[in-house]
Amino acid sequence: MMKLKISSTAQIWKFTLAVTAISVLVPVSVVGGIMAMVPHIPLIVIIFCVSIAFFIPLLLAPPISYVGLSMLRILSDTIARVDELIKFDPLTGALNRSHFLDNIRARQGSGMLMIVDVDHFKNVNDTRGHAAGDEALCILVRTLGNVLGSKGIVGRMGGEEFGIYLPGADLSMGTKTANMLCATVRNLDMIVGGKSMNMTISIGGTRHHPHLTIGHSLKIADDRLYEAKYGGRDQAVLGDTYSADTATNTPHSTVTDFAKLRG
Ligand code: GH3
Ligand code: MG
Ligand code: MG
Repeated sequence: MMKLKISSTAQIWKFTLAVTAISVLVPVSVVGGIMAMVPHIPLIVIIFCVSIAFFIPLLLAPPISYVGLSMLRILSDTIARVDELIKFDPLTGALNRSHFLDNIRARQGSGMLMIVDVDHFKNVNDTRGHAAGDEALCILVRTLGNVLGSKGIVGRMGGEEFGIYLPGADLSMGTKTANMLCATVRNLDMIVGGKSMNMTISIGGTRHHPHLTIGHSLKIADDRLYEAKYGGRDQAVLGDTYSADTATNTPHSTVTDFAKLRG
């Protein structure tokens, strides 16, 4: 379906001109054509009828089409703005929760679903203030996005909790990426409110497949996030839903330790 998108005043004038030209040409050619087919019409009548067919649309079409097109522009700007508000978290720019989950549902094939939670984030608010906390969340999302590049998407699940989805990734790729995210955030010297600050994240993740409900995979990822927190934070606990293997990666270990935690 063709969409009429009007994004500038110049476009409004261009369309107004086009609508006016059509509004004048069509009646003039129709009236002129009819007059030409009917014999013995006095010239004065022809001039009168063609003039009416010319001047009435010429007077009416420009203001009507200008106002109509201006309203259409306001409407399309509003729709674009609402669309942005619906899809993106206004603070961090990450996808919002529902759009993030819809994006995963719309995909075919499996991928790694992760939940990232900032460690002891309440302390940041308590010691630096809420505005600094907001700034830190924005930096975090930018950092996650930089590490992921085009390999994955980031959504804000709520508060200081973010979802990551790596389409097509298996457990090994997911584990590598999660470890890289933990390490990058851990080593990042954030400047928040003009002062330096460090933060760490914990990650829980699972392999999501389209035949599973997203709620089911989120629950498993959330359970593993809890394991990561319980295990000391600043680490990722990921597993494959099918084999029920869970890979626990502590920040200070370079060895991937596959521990069978679930039967
Ligand atoms: P844990 O390591 O167990 O996750 O500890 P935590 O302190 O991160 O977790 P907790 O759930 O106790 O606190 C989360 C805090 O995140 C509390 C809340 O005020 C803060 N928070 C949530 N959303 C925002 C936000 O948008 N901006 C700011 N500045 N703080 C937020
Ligand atoms: Mg937290
Ligand atoms: Mg939390």
